[in-house]
Amino acid sequence: YSIDKIRNFSIIAHVDHGKSTLADRLLELTGVIKADKANKQILDKLQVEKERGITVKAQTASLFYEYKGKKHLLNLIDTPGHVDFHYEVKRSLAACQGAILLVDANEGVQAQTLANFYLAFELDLPIIPVINKIDLKVAKPEVVVQQLNTLFDITPDQIIKISAKLGTGVDEVLKAIVERIPCPQVTSGSDKATQVPFKGLLFDSHYDRFRGVVASVAVKEGQISAGDKILSLQTKKKYDVQEVGVMSPDGVPISRLYEGQVGYIIANMKKAKDALIGDTLCLAEHPVDPLPGFKPAQAMVFAGLFPADQSEFSSLQDAITKLTLNDSSVEVNSDHSAALGQGFRLGFLGLLHMDVFEQRLRQEFHINAIVTAPNVPYKVKVKGAKNIKFYGGEVVTVLNPCHLPPLSIIEEIQEPLVLGTIIVPDCYLGDLVSLSMKYRGVQVEQSYIDDTRIMFKVVFPLNEIIVTFFDELKSVTSGYGSFDYEDYGYKTGNLVKLDIYVHNVIIEELTSLVHVTKVEDRGRELCLKLKEHLSRQQFEYTIRAAINQRFIAKETVKAYRKDVTARVKSGHDMARKKLLLDRQKEGKARLRLAGKVPVKKDVLMKVLRK
Ligand code: GDP
Ligand code: MG
Repeated sequence: YSIDKIRNFSIIAHVDHGKSTLADRLLELTGVIKADKANKQILDKLQVEKERGITVKAQTASLFYEYKGKKHLLNLIDTPGHVDFHYEVKRSLAACQGAILLVDANEGVQAQTLANFYLAFELDLPIIPVINKIDLKVAKPEVVVQQLNTLFDITPDQIIKISAKLGTGVDEVLKAIVERIPCPQVTSGSDKATQVPFKGLLFDSHYDRFRGVVASVAVKEGQISAGDKILSLQTKKKYDVQEVGVMSPDGVPISRLYEGQVGYIIANMKKAKDALIGDTLCLAEHPVDPLPGFKPAQAMVFAGLFPADQSEFSSLQDAITKLTLNDSSVEVNSDHSAALGQGFRLGFLGLLHMDVFEQRLRQEFHINAIVTAPNVPYKVKVKGAKNIKFYGGEVVTVLNPCHLPPLSIIEEIQEPLVLGTIIVPDCYLGDLVSLSMKYRGVQVEQSYIDDTRIMFKVVFPLNEIIVTFFDELKSVTSGYGSFDYEDYGYKTGNLVKLDIYVHNVIIEELTSLVHVTKVEDRGRELCLKLKEHLSRQQFEYTIRAAINQRFIAKETVKAYRKDVTARVKSGHDMARKKLLLDRQKEGKARLRLAGKVPVKKDVLMKVLRK
C-alpha cells in the first residue's frame, strides 16, 4: 500500500455509545470477519471486558476497503471510554490521523464524549461526528445535532447518522474515513521511503505467554522487517526483530511494515519495562532523534493487596508480575501489615481500573486477594532541617496513611484534586448541587448544552469521589447523570489522621486520612462496623476512634458469660457460688490486662469493603 492509501483512525465515545459494535460492523463490511449474529464486540478480548461490557485495553485491527476502485488500508484502533482509561485513549490517538466521535442518539453528549473530544482536538485530529442508534424509538438525533453545534461548533452537514447495530449508514462512515482523514504524514515523502532509516512510535504493548512482549508500533519513517536489529531510545537496549505483522483482528505476520502503517513487532522483549509506552524505536545502526513521547500514566488510587493465605504469597506475586506485563500503568510497591502479612501496595489509575485488576487476578490466575480500602497519594510538607534531610526533601509522598510522618513535624498535608465534568438534565439541578457539596465539591462553571441539559464543572478532592460518588450520582439522577474528571493538582486540605483502637491497640490497616468535617462520622461508622464483626471475649473491651490520641467515638463489646456457678445448686452453698464468681471476675480482670483481641483478616475484609 502506498502511503496515500493508508488511514489510521480511532473511534472515541462515551461508554456504551457503541464503539465496539461499530468496530464489529466495520470489520464485517470489510470482510475481516464474516457477518454473523455471534459477532459481538470482537475487539474486546479479555474476559473481564466481555462480562462488564466495557473495553479496557485498546486493540487495533487492519481493514481493507475499496474506495473508487482503489484498495485502501484502514487501521482501526479501538479505545476504552471510561475515565480511568484515558491514558489508553491518548496513546491510541497519538498513532492516528483522525477520529470518529460517536454519540448515542438517545443519551446525547455525555461527560466522556466531551473529554474524548478534547483529547482529539488537542492533537489537531480531524473529527468525524457520528450519531449512533438512530434505530431506537427514543432516538432524538436533532437534539444531538444541536448539542454538537453548541459545544464543538460542528455543523449539521458534517454529521453522519447511523445504526451500528443494524448496519445502517456504516458504509457512509467508511467513505468519510477515506475522504476526511488524511493519510499519515511522513517527513521523508513516500517516494524516498525505502532510503530513510526506520523510526517508530511504540504506542502500546501486550504480553504473550509464548512470544514475550508484542509491541504495537506506528511506523513514522522508513520500514521494518524480521531480521532487523532495533534500538530503544529510552532503554538503550537492542533487540533482534523476529516478526512484524498487522492485527486483523488477530496478529497476521507480514514481511515488512512500511511508513504510515500501524502494526506489531515481536523482538525478544522479555519484560513490560522493556516496551515503554511512548518510546521511539529505530534501527541499531541508524540512531534517530526521539519522537515526542507522552507523559507516563500516573497512579492515583492506592490499595493494599494481600494473599488470603501467606502460603499463596509467591503465586500472588507471580500473578501481579504477569498482569502488569500487560498493564504498565499499575504501580507496584511491597507492603506489610501485622494482620495480613506480606503483600503489596498497588497504584491504579482509578477505582474501575483497580476492580478490573482484581477481577483479572481472580479469573485469569485464580487468586483470591484481600484488597484494603483504597486511598489517594498525599503530599506531606515536613518542617525542620533535620527532618527534611531525613525524608530526603521537604515534600514526602504518602501512599499509605499509616506511614504518615509524626504529626509534630508536619507543616501541612496536601491532597489531590480533580476537575469533574458532570452532565445532567436540568430537573436534577438541585440534587446535583447538594450532592456536590456532600462530596466537598466547589462548582466553577455551569452552562446549558441544549434546551434541557446542563454541564457543570466542579472541583473535587479525589479522595472524596473514588468510592461512592459515581453510584450516588447515577442514583440521584435516575441514571441520567454522567461524569468524567481530569487531574487538577494538589491543594492543602484540613485533613486529620484517624486511628482505630481495638482494646487499646491501633489497627494499622484501618488508619485513614479524613477531612476534619467528616472525621467524626467516619470514626463512629468504623467503630460500629467493627463491633458488628468482632467476636466477644471473656473480658469486656473497647473499640475507639481517635484523632491524635484524642478519642472521638467509642463502642464497648461486653464479655461473654460463662456460667461458672451452674453446677452449684441454687440455694445451697451460697458461699461457694460467690467464691466462684469472684474468681471469675479476677480472672477476667487479669485477662483484660493481658488479653489480646484478634482482629482477623475476614473481619478486616468486611469492615474495609466499600
Ligand atoms: P461501547 O461501550 O462504546 O463499546 O459500546 P458497545 O458497542 O458495547 O454498545 C453498548 C450497547 O449499545 C450494546 O448493548 C449494543 O448492543 C448497543 N448498541 C450499539 N449500537 C447500537 C445501535 O445502533 N442501536 C441500538 N439499538 N443499540 C446499539
Ligand atoms: Mg466497547
